[in-house]
Amino acid sequence: MTKEIEQFAQLGIGEALTAALLEYGIGKPSPIQAEAIPYILEGRDVLAQSQTGTGKTLAYLLPLLQRIDPDKKESQVLVIAPTQELAMQIVREGEKYGGPLGIGTIGLIGGASAARQVEKLRQRPHLVVGTPGRLRELLSTRKLKLHEVRSIVLDEADQIFQMGGADDVRSLLKGALRDRQLIFLSATLGTDVRALAEREMRDPADVGIEPEQKLAKSTQHLYFVCQERDRIDTLRRVVRHYNPQRAIVFVNQADTIAEVESKLNHLGLEARTLYGDADKVTRATVLSQFRSGKFRLLVATDVAARGLDIPGLELVVHLDPAADSEHYVHRAGRTGRMGRKGLSVSIVTDRQAFIMRKFSRELDTAIEERALYEGAVLAPAEAEERRAGAVRRTPKGPAKKEAGRGPAGPGRGVSPGSSGASPAGTSSGADAAGGERGGSGRGSEAAERGGAGRPNPAKSAGRGPKGKKQPNKDKGAPKWLKEKRSTQDPS
Ligand code: ADP
Ligand code: MG
Repeated sequence: MTKEIEQFAQLGIGEALTAALLEYGIGKPSPIQAEAIPYILEGRDVLAQSQTGTGKTLAYLLPLLQRIDPDKKESQVLVIAPTQELAMQIVREGEKYGGPLGIGTIGLIGGASAARQVEKLRQRPHLVVGTPGRLRELLSTRKLKLHEVRSIVLDEADQIFQMGGADDVRSLLKGALRDRQLIFLSATLGTDVRALAEREMRDPADVGIEPEQKLAKSTQHLYFVCQERDRIDTLRRVVRHYNPQRAIVFVNQADTIAEVESKLNHLGLEARTLYGDADKVTRATVLSQFRSGKFRLLVATDVAARGLDIPGLELVVHLDPAADSEHYVHRAGRTGRMGRKGLSVSIVTDRQAFIMRKFSRELDTAIEERALYEGAVLAPAEAEERRAGAVRRTPKGPAKKEAGRGPAGPGRGVSPGSSGASPAGTSSGADAAGGERGGSGRGSEAAERGGAGRPNPAKSAGRGPKGKKQPNKDKGAPKWLKEKRSTQDPS
């Protein structure tokens, strides 16, 4: 560790900060940090794109904190974040690493008392972190002045852009020093943001760590198909099966969130909600209780997706499928951070299953179907086989062999042969996604678009032997979860 930390020093990070990094258990720079830190120290404008959970916060905070002159009572750095939660998370990092250097940090977020923030602003904190709404408010009343700000960061830049558009961002940038340094970061930097960067930045360093690879490789992606009315029950079974310490459950509609929460609590799943309309204190309390493990399931709308870093979050469930592949990236990106194992599970109806295949193609990552059968997570064909077997067994003893040859037919997207045991890595991920584009995948997708129901086990058994190796019972889960499963009793 001591050797590795020298890599931060080689990038130009000073002793005080490297000591703080060591204290917080950070040993060596992540790739985006190694790339971005030298440019930011030079004062260059930077466009940085790398997957969720790869350490973008410290990639800009460390060099900017280092460039702050703590002896000058001036607000020198402004960080803009799209949500209150993310802004507060950045404030905490700023305090952690800046505090020891004598750097003062302030969070300017909506919902909190503006008067208190104004009071604190008088002391000219060196690092200002805020959400666009509150920043605009304080700028328009001239409580916040940017004329001493040398560096401006847009964290989750595309989200900020989507919230207010280019003019909004420009008006936030106005008032800062003419030769201010600009830094935009996200896992998803689209053409809009790049166009704005083109106009506002001078000769930016374009730092991209595998920008086309938007999802963390350490996360496995699965989906389960159920009927609309069985969504909550499927969620219950998923949670029972994987038994995560903590999980985020994403829903699409804020107005149904309370209902989902109460249903989950009714099932004994300890859920609470986080959504945009709740007041700031409630949001902050809920999030901090979730972080400290006071309850297990955080039911959230997409507002919670951006940038939040919750240690030990093993599972993300999309109770409703994400609106598009970018939303999927940011939701799934709450888990599998910094190389840790993660699992992203979508619950879809038969008619929505094509969405999963679409995301899989667009993100070039395997998103594989699984089915629950008596508490086990199985490839769909295997689950069907067992169901069929159970039906046949009932009247006349086991018909295992016959069933075993049956349902491996081209009924549904993911072939039982495609690996679910390894996380969706590059090669296996690409393979599986590629495989889905092949004949059988297209066939079932077309069937689903047409609203065809789930294949009838009896019918697909009639399709005859496929000669493929049947998946074993553990096929459905990554290794870390298998280990867990062996120590617990599935629902
Ligand atoms: P991103 O903004 O890219 O989504 P974050 O900045 O939130 O990622 O960082 C994700 C997690 O990784 C945080 O918990 C952070 O403390 C941790 N982290 C950051 N840099 C390093 C590093 N160099 N080594 C190990 N962990 C790190
Ligand atoms: Mg971030």
